[in-house]
Parts: sequence; C-alpha cells; structure tokens
Amino acid sequence: MPYWRLSEMIPKLRDLSSRLSRPSPSGEATSFILSSLKAQKRKILLGLLSLIAADLLALVPPWITKDAIDLISARGNLSQILPLASLILALALFQACFRFLWRTALFGVARNLECDLRGKLLDHLLKLDTPFYARHTVGDLMSRCSNDLVAIQEMVAFAGLLIVDSSITIGSCIALMLLISAKLTLVALIPLPFLSLVFMHLGKKVKMRSLEVQRELASLTELVQETISGVKVVKTYTMEELRLNAYEEACSRYMESQMGLAGTRGAFYGLLGFITALASVIVLGTGGKAVAQGELTLGEFVGFSAYLAMLSWPMMSLGFMTNLIQRSRASWQRVREILDSHPIMPRGYLPLKGLSMDVEFRDVSFKYPDSASWAIEGVSLTWPEGAVVGITGPVGSGKSTLLSLAARIHDPDRGKILLGGVDLKELKLEELRKRIAMVEQEPFLFSETIEENLFPWDGKPPRSYLEDLAKMTALWRDISAFPNGWETIVGERGVTLSGGQRQRLALARALAMNPSILLLDDPFSHLDPETESAILDYILTAFKGRTIVLVSQRLSTLSRAHWVIVMDKGRVSEEGEPRELLKGGSYLRDLAIRQEILEVFGG
Ligand code: ADP
Ligand code: MG
Repeated sequence: MPYWRLSEMIPKLRDLSSRLSRPSPSGEATSFILSSLKAQKRKILLGLLSLIAADLLALVPPWITKDAIDLISARGNLSQILPLASLILALALFQACFRFLWRTALFGVARNLECDLRGKLLDHLLKLDTPFYARHTVGDLMSRCSNDLVAIQEMVAFAGLLIVDSSITIGSCIALMLLISAKLTLVALIPLPFLSLVFMHLGKKVKMRSLEVQRELASLTELVQETISGVKVVKTYTMEELRLNAYEEACSRYMESQMGLAGTRGAFYGLLGFITALASVIVLGTGGKAVAQGELTLGEFVGFSAYLAMLSWPMMSLGFMTNLIQRSRASWQRVREILDSHPIMPRGYLPLKGLSMDVEFRDVSFKYPDSASWAIEGVSLTWPEGAVVGITGPVGSGKSTLLSLAARIHDPDRGKILLGGVDLKELKLEELRKRIAMVEQEPFLFSETIEENLFPWDGKPPRSYLEDLAKMTALWRDISAFPNGWETIVGERGVTLSGGQRQRLALARALAMNPSILLLDDPFSHLDPETESAILDYILTAFKGRTIVLVSQRLSTLSRAHWVIVMDKGRVSEEGEPRELLKGGSYLRDLAIRQEILEVFGG
C-alpha cells in the first residue's frame, strides 16, 4: 500500500481505537478487557506493525526468484544472481526479526490479558456473596476460571493475528498474481466456490464436535475430582472397581469424541489441501501452455505458482479461526456471567465504633433460596453483650442458620437483626466480620501449615502467643507430637488431622481474631467431655465480658451458659436459665434423661 494511503488511514484508526476504548454499555467485563488492551496499546501496535512487515517481506523473495529465473533464461548468465541471492538472505533475516517481534509482542499481550483477567475474576468472586455461590457449583466456577480463560486468551492471541495475517497475505498475493497475469489468476480462483462449500459444511461440524469434546472432558475431570476428593468413601465401600470402570467409560467416550473431531478436522484440512492442489494443477496446465506460447515467461510462471502456494496457509487458518471464535464466544459468555454479577447483600457504611455488642433478632424469618419452607421463622431474641448463650434443639431446627444470620452470611427475608440497636445491613461489613467470629460445624482449613491456618492474617504474632492459643484449645500436645510441629501441612481441607484436631484448630483461629462476639456451632462434638470442659474453662475466663454463643447438644456445655435457647422447626420453643429449663422445660429434660446425668444437676 502506498505511503499516502497509510497516512490517510491513521486518523481513521485513531477514531476506531477511541471508540473501542470507551466503556461499553454491555457491562463491566467488556470494559475491563478493553482497558487491559488499551494499557498495552504500544505493544499491540508494535506487534501488528511487525506482523505486517514480516508478511510484506515474505512477498519479496518469490518476486526476486521470478526475475532471477528470467535473467538466467534470457542471458544464461549466473553472475547477476549472486546479489539477488544475498538480497533474499538479507530479507529472510529481517523477516526472522519481525517474526520474533510480533510473536513476543502479540502473544505477550494475550498472556497479560489472561493474567489481568485471572486476577480480576478472583477479586470479583471474593466480592460476590452467599446468594451467588448458592447458584454455582465449585466445578463450574473452576472451569470458568481455567478452561474458559485459556480459550479467551487464545482467541485474543490468534484471532487478531490471523485476521491481519490472512487478509494481508491473501490480499497481496492475489494482487501480485493479478500483476503477473490477470487471466491465470482468474483461472486459479475457479476452485474458490468449493472452498466456501467446505467451510460452510465442515466448519459447523467441527464446532459441534469440539463442543462434544469439551463436554466429555468436563465430565472426565469431574469424575477424577470426585473420586480423589471422596477417596475415603471409595475405599471404605470398596468402590474402586466401580469408579475405575466409570472412568474407563468416560475415557473411551472422550477418546471417541476426540477421534470424531480429528476425523472431521482431517477431512476439513484434507479437502482444503485437495482444493489447493486442484488450483495448482489448473495453473500448471494453463500457465504451462501460456509459457509454451510465449505469453508468460518461465520466471513469471514460477513466481505465480509461489504466490498461489502462499495462499494455502491463510485459507486454512481461516478455518482454524472460525473454530477458535466459536469456542471462545461461549467461554466469554461464561466468564462475563461472573464479572457482570454483583453482590446482592448491601455492604453498609456505618462504623461499629462506640456501639454496644448487644445482638437482637426482631421477628426474623429466613428461607434458603429454592427452599419451600422457612429455616427460621418469626424469631425474636436478645444476646446481651458479655452473655454466654447456649443454643440447642433437634437436627434441622435452625441453630446453624441462626448463627450465620448473626454473622451476616445471610440476610433475613423478614424482620431485622440489630447490633447495638443498628441494623446489621447498615454496618460496615468488613468491620462487622472482624468483630464477629464464627466456628462452623464442619470447619474449613487450607492446605497450609498449622501455623498459617491458626493465624492466616498479615503480621505474624510471636510463637508464644500462638502457643497460648494452642494451649487454650488443648491443641498444644497434638502440635508438639507432630514431627514438623507448627510447620505440619494439614493436607487438603485438613484431611491429615482428626475431626477433633480440625475443630480445635478452627476454634483457635477464631480466638486469634480476638472477636467481640464468638459464635461456636457445636465446636466440641468430636471431643471427650473432659477436654471440652477444660477448653470451655479457658475460653470463658479469657473471653470474659465478650458474648459467646454456643450451639451444643451436651448438657455439660449448656449448663455453663447464662441463658439457653431451644430451637424447634425454625422457631424458639423454650428459653431461660439452664437450671430453670431443666426443671420446667421439656427439651433439656429429655436431653438430661438421655445423657443420664440428671443427678449432676440435682433435678
Ligand atoms: P441445625 O443447625 O439446627 O441442624 P440448620 O440451620 O442447619 O439446622 O437448618 C435449618 C433448616 O434449613 C433445615 O431444614 C435444613 O434442611 C435447611 N438448610 C440448611 N442449610 C441449607 C442450605 N444451604 N440450603 C437449603 N436448605 C438448608
Ligand atoms: Mg447445624
């Protein structure tokens, strides 16, 4: 393209890029991608210019060869060939440099974008709240964060590249062919309509088969993941053979789908090759005749054939690109669903400073999404600052839900929960989370060391502080017995620890937060009564004056509370001092009879 044309285009390109960089109305995700690309615009420009340079340089050697052949056949003199050969070599060297530049620049841009997107995705996922996670499985989110991101990265790396590369190569090759012989060019392009037929027919098939491969791969991965996560169950119930058979079946389905894809792709590329060969044969016949009749020089014929051969790669890459674009569009859609989701729970803006830590449930009802019945219904209660509150009741009566409402893992559907007289929804969520610690029934540990699990925050405290916490939770003896002590890695989700050790580690982690309100969801269920009682002694002394809410089914634990609340079917069925409830109530009395320690309380 002449220089003046290029200079005409630059303002247009600028206009286009300014339109691209404006935040798109289609959402945060698109504008994030555009801003990441905009930050790399120099690299993109460098990559594209190098690509164009490499493509244009590739066009020169066939032209030189053409002239060289004509020179030889006209004069039979080889002396002028040497400079031409050196020129070809020099051009090849430049081309190699430009290739290196565009590859590193454009692939680098795509990798940077992938990296930015990965960070953005996790950052965004961490901002989303419980209702979002109720709608998505871990496997699904994982595949969006891995496979789908890679597909987007490949799309950015290749699509732009292939579009520019193909259009330059196709455009300029055809132009040069026309320059050599318009007639021969028209003849060579006869098979072109067949090409579009192949694209239309097999292109669709390739897309369908690739989707099938993605689906089979997903189910294969899920099977492996589940088998490994549930390896204990698999072994205890001797399900190894069964899982293996299922795996082999999934493998052969995956293999079949891959072979199907390979077959379709093979036919696709085979036909493309055949059509290109057909074009060469036509050119050979027609061009050979033209050379014989003196309408075309031998050099022109050779040059023409070289340009025709150069066309076959961009033609094939068009097929590859169609495939890539189809796949990555689906992936982009899936990633956008995450990035365009927003937290549903309001974040609050009031600081907690100066508030009393009295918790009040005011006629609270809550239903899990997709659940037909209320998990908590019309609950009104108070946990005064500094009180030790026991919560008990049958399985499924709403005890855990009550605690997670107080910790604002969920928001009530009706009624209000107040802290120091202020609705939880109006308080700054980050501050609230720092003041309320909850130990769940099945606590989650990270596959890191015991020390990192106990104190996962910044600014490591002295070991003596951690030792105190470990002693308080009766964990110290266990840690000392591990060969690696504090450095023991707890395995995924803490599998290398016993249930009781996991519970105590999670309890120590909650205590390390130094919270104002401690919510303990049956944290001693795996412990013997003596250990439980010792830990409780420590906590009640060390956290005197703070609110402690204890879910438990053990009378020995409940008897330490100032106040006990009995839950039944999402409602408060009884409440009072433990001694009163033991005398007058029914649930605690039943518990006592069942635990055969009624005499301890003198009831
Ligand atoms: P408890 O801790 O007293 O055993 P929960 O608070 O765990 O009771 O559960 C109260 C009710 O809510 C039960 O009927 C239970 O089936 C239901 N529930 C608990 N968790 C969920 C959940 N994540 N999704 C749907 N329903 C739930
Ligand atoms: Mg529970």
